[in-house]
Amino acid sequence: MTTESESVTGLDPDIEKKWRAAGKLSAKGLRHGASLIKPDVPAEEVADAVEAYFIKEGGASAFPACLSVNEVAAHYAPTKGDDLVLKEGDVVKLDVGAHVDGYIGDNAVTIEVGGTDNWSKLIEASRAALTVAVSIVGPNVNLSTVGAAIEQTMDEYGYRPIANLTGHSIERWNLHAGLSVPAIANTPVQRPKVGTVMAIEPFATNGAGHVVNGPNGNIYHYARQRPVRHPDARKVLQEVARTYPKLPFAERWIDSVSPNRLRMALTMLTKNVAIKNYAALVEAGKGMVAQFEHTVLITQDGVDVLTLLDDDD
Ligand code: MN
Ligand code: MN
Repeated sequence: MTTESESVTGLDPDIEKKWRAAGKLSAKGLRHGASLIKPDVPAEEVADAVEAYFIKEGGASAFPACLSVNEVAAHYAPTKGDDLVLKEGDVVKLDVGAHVDGYIGDNAVTIEVGGTDNWSKLIEASRAALTVAVSIVGPNVNLSTVGAAIEQTMDEYGYRPIANLTGHSIERWNLHAGLSVPAIANTPVQRPKVGTVMAIEPFATNGAGHVVNGPNGNIYHYARQRPVRHPDARKVLQEVARTYPKLPFAERWIDSVSPNRLRMALTMLTKNVAIKNYAALVEAGKGMVAQFEHTVLITQDGVDVLTLLDDDD
């Protein structure tokens, strides 16, 4: 007996089951990670714990667990031995996702470390914008209207969205598929179909309203086979082509080369365009940033939120 089975998605039942499993696992991993966020806890410890949880529960990370702090909006994955330690008052975006056989969940929350409440209204602006977006998105809904609703909701709280960070459709083994879910009004018309899976993730800020590339986010993506002479670089390329051919991977996950030589190997492969490197994304005006994210499945009636937990989960 399930309350979810009434909504028609047009998906093959076995495939739909995997989407739902990935969403549920992603949400449980997020809850687990969030419970560990406290003053003086190393960011690496939280990321490791979430990633280990996904594996223990029969999935794997679909992308590196990210802890992006304060004006860092997104795409910061701790390195091995990272000196990032969470401090009381930090505004941490924890963004994690699991995949089950390539079917991906993606979700995020924002937490003020140590229970301070200097940024509660900013955090609420992002959470409320996500709630509004989920309530209006559905089959053939123009996603520009979702962006307009996000922008308006944040405006009511006295904040603005980060315009160049969007939600995205998700396909098997493909975290950022064709559709974008904007956070602002007046974007091109795009309409999701029944059966589409999408991540919705409005970012709120008191800053400039856009992000720029910051320091290395320690996140990479395999691109292509290339001739590589250096033995370390060759080993790393073999490892990532075999283990992470389609989804992003963390520097921390590579074990074919010792940590002190790994960065150089990754830099060589990036220059060689065998792999792509992602920078951390930083608010352009050094504003504070909050984000919430859910993965939803478009149904005939609206959406099912795949990354929602029930009382008994
Ligand atoms: Mn995410
Ligand atoms: Mn996402």
